[in-house]
Amino acid sequence: MTLPTHARAVIIGGGVIGCSVAYHLTKLGWSDVVLLERKQLTSGTTWHAAGLIGQLRASSNMTKLAKYTADLYSTIEAETGVATGFRKVGSISVALNHERHEELRRTAAMARAFGVPVEEIDTAEIKRMYPHLNTEGVAGGVYLPSDGQGDPANIALAMAKGARQRGAQIVERVKAKGISRDGRRITSVDWASEDGISGTITCNHVVNCAGMWGREVGQMLGVNVPLQACEHFYIVSEPIPGLQALPVLRVPDECAYYKEDAGKMMLGAFEPVSKPWGMGGIPESFEFDQLPEDFDHFEPILEAAVNRMPMLAEAGIHTFFNGPESFTPDNAYYLGQAREMDNVWVAAGFNSIGIQSAGGAGMALAQWMEDGAKPFDLGDVDIVRAQPFQRNCRYLKERVTETLGLLYADHYPYRQKATARGVRRTPFHQQLLERGAVMGEIAGWERANWYATDRQTPEYAYSWKRQTFFDNVAREHRAIRENVGIYDMSSFGKLRVEGSDAEAFLNHVCGADMSVPVGKIVYTQFLNTRGGIEADVTVTRLSATCFLVITPAATRAADQTWLQRHLGDHCVVITDVTAGEGVLAVMGPNARKVMQAVSPDDFSNDANPFGTAQEIEIGLGTARVHRLSYVGELGWEIYISADQAGHVFETLWETGQDHGLTLCGMHAMDTCRIEKAFRHFGHDITCEDHVLEAGLGFAVKTAKPDFIGRDAVLQKRETGLQTRLVQFRLTDPEPLLYHHEPILRDGQIVGYLSSGAYGHHLGSAIGLGYVPCAGESAEQVLASRYDIDVAGTRVRAETSLKPMYDPTSERVTA
Ligand SMILES: Cc1cc2nc3c(=O)[nH]c(=O)nc-3n(C[C@H](O)[C@H](O)[C@H](O)COP(=O)(O)OP(=O)(O)OC[C@H]3O[C@@H](n4cnc5c(N)ncnc54)[C@H](O)[C@@H]3O)c2cc1C
Repeated sequence: MTLPTHARAVIIGGGVIGCSVAYHLTKLGWSDVVLLERKQLTSGTTWHAAGLIGQLRASSNMTKLAKYTADLYSTIEAETGVATGFRKVGSISVALNHERHEELRRTAAMARAFGVPVEEIDTAEIKRMYPHLNTEGVAGGVYLPSDGQGDPANIALAMAKGARQRGAQIVERVKAKGISRDGRRITSVDWASEDGISGTITCNHVVNCAGMWGREVGQMLGVNVPLQACEHFYIVSEPIPGLQALPVLRVPDECAYYKEDAGKMMLGAFEPVSKPWGMGGIPESFEFDQLPEDFDHFEPILEAAVNRMPMLAEAGIHTFFNGPESFTPDNAYYLGQAREMDNVWVAAGFNSIGIQSAGGAGMALAQWMEDGAKPFDLGDVDIVRAQPFQRNCRYLKERVTETLGLLYADHYPYRQKATARGVRRTPFHQQLLERGAVMGEIAGWERANWYATDRQTPEYAYSWKRQTFFDNVAREHRAIRENVGIYDMSSFGKLRVEGSDAEAFLNHVCGADMSVPVGKIVYTQFLNTRGGIEADVTVTRLSATCFLVITPAATRAADQTWLQRHLGDHCVVITDVTAGEGVLAVMGPNARKVMQAVSPDDFSNDANPFGTAQEIEIGLGTARVHRLSYVGELGWEIYISADQAGHVFETLWETGQDHGLTLCGMHAMDTCRIEKAFRHFGHDITCEDHVLEAGLGFAVKTAKPDFIGRDAVLQKRETGLQTRLVQFRLTDPEPLLYHHEPILRDGQIVGYLSSGAYGHHLGSAIGLGYVPCAGESAEQVLASRYDIDVAGTRVRAETSLKPMYDPTSERVTA
């Protein structure tokens, strides 16, 4: 066996994902690519996939990738001569209740926004298109004509052949066994073949495409890839006389999908409680293996299916298939550059959509590796979101029992995961629970989302309409607007950036001017070279050589990684001190009264103006207050050493109630921030949104000589905005907005909402979204008529480029 001794990229794993990465790297001209497969290509999970290839995903970019995938699978046969079996059979999803029907209608609206052909179909039309279906109880459905199905193994083999044709070496029966590293780089990969030969390949990059082995291969490479295999089931009937080509059918309320294949019917399951597999490790011999059938586990799905698809009652079962697939804690796959190393890339954990994702994921990763920067926003799947604690095996086992089933669960707004909860708690957790807090989770943090009254059960009851917490949030919202509210923001990421070069370093990474006096707080973005927003943070100068960067909970790891990767020669140390301080935000027109009641310090505009921090005494302890607001009111964020946090909460609570202090949750924070049109990172602003188009030009100081993104900002000032972030308010107070609802300008879809929530003060749902505006003035953009498509109904919307709530920010500076 002769393997090269050097490769630009070593890909570990020859499933559909590894083959796609190899194919796309070679398409970019990377000919010295080596793919190592421990057994045979596709012998892990790929060979037994059902082959459903859908187009519509939960975000615009994920949909673009899925569309790219389908296009590739329909053309690669001509390029390589390998038949992929790809056929555009279309797909139908049906709803068995009104909530699901609303979800499907909202999904159809989203498809329109993303440019995916879609038809809403009634029960009669469903029956016409799918005569075998028992339509009893069917409320309606959607039809996606461009969805397809294909042959997973051949799709992988076609991409492998395409890669080989351009020079990649794809080697079977060779396992990646170990590595050598130099600091944050892998320098070589050690391999061993099944017939006892071993060797080493020096390399510039390593790509972990090891599917359900991804976690253990990650460990070998020194990176965290938290995923866990689960058993995944389908059955295939005996041939059914007369059965002809049909669209793929999904009946998510019965956790089932149906696929006609060569005159047989396949029934697959996404059961609510799944079975993790391989906790003790995957057998070394695993190759085209199947897992033992578990009829008891599958039976409830089959029972419902026999009623729904009566032909299954007569057809015998030809195959009962059980195979493992990897699942992740948030049901999204991992793509991109691993946080812990500079030349390790990951494409793994595909949550049962690896076939339909492989083309796009491989293309995006290859481009990312080529450019050293994400080609577009991939926040949904970027590996950088993985939390260090998530590699805990018990956590993974508990969480993935739920995530498999969530694929077909109703994706209600604000839906929280039910399993593996409580890992990260703020210092106020118990105190808040005792006062009615209903917790949600983000990055493992438990956060009070809303507060139940004594007469309510403190838990979610999900719906697409007004949920049980609607009035609670309205009350909390009013407390912030009219009096004073308190909420727990301890989950903020807190990064100390310290050293003799701290100021120079932050001036290089941040768009704003960081040469500010001690105590000043600066709102800023980390920009990329295209002027896109990589992070949205506040930075407080604590001393001449120390700054505190405050980041959203969800992006702490990403933001720290961005800083770390741009350190260069700067003499700076970055430390995550998130857990060291609890944070309470006291916000509202009476916030100053509350602060003065618990502290002898001066909270006047002279002593502590907006955008400054000060050390204070509070109760029997001390804290640092940051005068800031994400809800658009007078207020302070109080940073309290974790040991004093409980005491400070008691002090604030006991004293504050005399001043009307009300406990508020994250939902109220969100409803307030959207009224003030404050952008939410990940939704309204991402790495592909230019800071000027996002309306954040005020936070960028191009007078600074040199910072990342400066040229792109100057250039955009020359060329003009192509798009603008606009605030919308529905004129009808009833409909609710979440995000991704299409924006219609003079009757034509021009974009979609990047975020949405109810404006309890403004009196109806509010959204933010980008509107193309090349060559137009602000007045011209606003002069049009705007409607928002809410689940198929067009609702008139008012628009504004300034915040609809307190446009001149008098309230925050009061
Ligand atoms: C029952 C079932 C039905 C499915 N249906 C669909 C569907 O309809 N549509 C869809 O899109 N997806 C579907 N999927 C999911 C899809 O099959 C997977 O997401 C996809 O195959 C994952 O591909 P992969 O390349 O990541 O993993 P794999 O195919 O498992 O490939 C990983 C490879 O890495 C190799 N490897 C591991 N460690 C090493 C090492 N150290 N050195 C060298 N090689 C190594 C393994 O041998 C393996 O071949 C289904 C899955 C199941 C189980």
